[in-house]
Amino acid sequence: MAFLTPAQFVELRLDLEKLKGELTSLVELTAESAKPVDLEEPIGRLSRMDAMQNQQMAQANERSHSERLDRVQNALEAMDRGEYGTCGFCREAIPFERLKPLPETQICVSCQERGESGVSR
Ligand SMILES: [Zn+2]
Repeated sequence: MAFLTPAQFVELRLDLEKLKGELTSLVELTAESAKPVDLEEPIGRLSRMDAMQNQQMAQANERSHSERLDRVQNALEAMDRGEYGTCGFCREAIPFERLKPLPETQICVSCQERGESGVSR
């Protein structure tokens, strides 16, 4: 099995720590702009629509950032348990080439493709 080398492991851990920091500040930032629109504010009908649209986009961003942050945190916990780099479904090793661009991944390519094509696992 092609498990990660210690150097690759360290590199991915640093990537995850960095990602965690970035996502944490992104989540905090978007939480600010996702605050409810103040309907008492004297703004025109159109700009109120804009404000609500912006708010919805900010909320969607916040969701995807915090979902990714969850996955990053799960991956870091998996590292601590010594389970990182192994597919959560089939227990196959996940290659470094897949983890490098997406270090929070804990599913191998074939399991992900199975999941995306809608076949139950
Ligand atoms: Zn798998």
